[in-house]
Amino acid sequence: MEKESNGAAENGMKRPQIKFTQLFINGSFVDSISGKKFETRDPRTGEVLVSVAEGDKADVDLAVAAARQAFDHGKWPRMSGYDRARIMMRFADLVEEHLDELAELECLDAGKLLFLTKIIDLDTAIRTLRYYAGAADKIHGETLKMSSEMHGYTLKEPIGVVGHIIPWNFPTIMFFTKVAPALAAGCTMVVKPAEQTPLTALYYAYLAHKAGIPEGVINVITGFGTTAGAAIASHMDIDMVSFTGSTAVGRLIMEAAAKSNLKSVSLELGGKSPLIIFDDTDVDKAVDIARDATFFNKGEACIAASRIFVQEGIYGQFVEKLAENMKSWVVGDPFDPRVNQGPQVDEAQYQKILQYIEHGKREGATLLTGGRPCGKRGYYIEPTVFTDVKDDMLIAKDEIFGPVMSVMKFKTMEEAIERANDTKYGLAAGIVTKDINTVNRLTRSIRAGLIWVNCYMQMDVDCPFGGFKMSGHGKDSGLDALYKYMHVKSVVMPIYNSPW
Ligand code: NAD
Repeated sequence: MEKESNGAAENGMKRPQIKFTQLFINGSFVDSISGKKFETRDPRTGEVLVSVAEGDKADVDLAVAAARQAFDHGKWPRMSGYDRARIMMRFADLVEEHLDELAELECLDAGKLLFLTKIIDLDTAIRTLRYYAGAADKIHGETLKMSSEMHGYTLKEPIGVVGHIIPWNFPTIMFFTKVAPALAAGCTMVVKPAEQTPLTALYYAYLAHKAGIPEGVINVITGFGTTAGAAIASHMDIDMVSFTGSTAVGRLIMEAAAKSNLKSVSLELGGKSPLIIFDDTDVDKAVDIARDATFFNKGEACIAASRIFVQEGIYGQFVEKLAENMKSWVVGDPFDPRVNQGPQVDEAQYQKILQYIEHGKREGATLLTGGRPCGKRGYYIEPTVFTDVKDDMLIAKDEIFGPVMSVMKFKTMEEAIERANDTKYGLAAGIVTKDINTVNRLTRSIRAGLIWVNCYMQMDVDCPFGGFKMSGHGKDSGLDALYKYMHVKSVVMPIYNSPW
């Protein structure tokens, strides 16, 4: 593993201009009612980038009132799907026009690689807006043949005011994955980005407004989870909460929904996803798949393959090639195109990952690569591979959410299935094999919402995304996500003999 000197970055570190730091409520940027602000930091240095308005319950109340008014009396839910689509397409065009600046802002706030943010995160954002714009005028109900002298039909109607609470690992993708289908459905919304990465969401609110999305339809409240987030989850005037984040907070969201107005809840939560590599495979290719499946986005991915099961026939060879492969993995400034891995998002995440690494060493796993912080400053960690990991070790059970891979040996397919499923999570899984029978057996036996065969992390907006078990429920992406923001209403009437 190569380490880029962070010193190089000290001279002329890239800093895009930060234009928006206030809450966005009812079409305007405003300070928080309390006047409070919080700091967001550059993960490359730990230095403060800017102070951002800290919204809390009072601001959420204002944003919800604006969204409620826009839903109950405004144009957006009453507009034709075609007109909504035209505005959403304009929104997509504006994001595309500002792509470079937005990608830089995202990298600055989240420590993500600039070149990948352009071709993955921003590209996904634009495609997601266009995909759901394309669906906005194709929302149909069904005609019902009733069993009596009645007939009926269903109407698909927007669910109402939605609260979107999103995490920091993919701030742009999460924003559009939530906002675009809800917009197409005709909903209005309050978005709370994560406190670690508030910057791009405010810029998107500005672009939405510029594109012609009416006042009150998209409101953005920057702030903390226990205040602004909790106020959304328990709000009596919010009809649905769409949450992506940790399983622990997902539980709090459901509790708050149950204790308030029984709002509808969709949860995309954590994972501890297995990647199962069989003997019959090309070891070099398997190593590449495993490396990217774990270390993409510095391991800050809910779908990261953090348990790598390797069949015993190639285990030794796999470990050897993986160690060799990791020597060319570069950690450093995410604005540098030669770099593979940037800094972790913040100090808390950085410390948490280092603690897990120390735990892995104490638990007796073999440290193959990494295992230490790196760089002179900022939140950089060496990509860390543990081999000979046992299922009951903490590093094999907990979601670490960092650049830490656990490699385990298995003998038979049955054993692999049982061990892969032996987790409270069920978000994603991967299978690497040339045998179609193995593929068919495993894809039907593994309890996870998304299974990759001979690849990993391949995603597209039309692919429903969401977990089983304690990884949550409800789908993001695909048409499933559009329909989760809609109610189905049945209308019934006599075929003959209407009373007038
Ligand atoms: P988190 O749950 O701490 O925070 C996520 C969001 O919830 C943030 O906006 C935060 O402010 C808010 N929040 C925190 N406490 C809250 C509360 N009491 N009430 C309401 N909102 C609250 O998660 P995180 O650490 O920011 O993100 C990492 C987690 O997110 C990981 O577990 C990861 O697997 C998960 N994640 C899941 C997916 C998915 O699609 N399944 C995608 C990305 C991240």
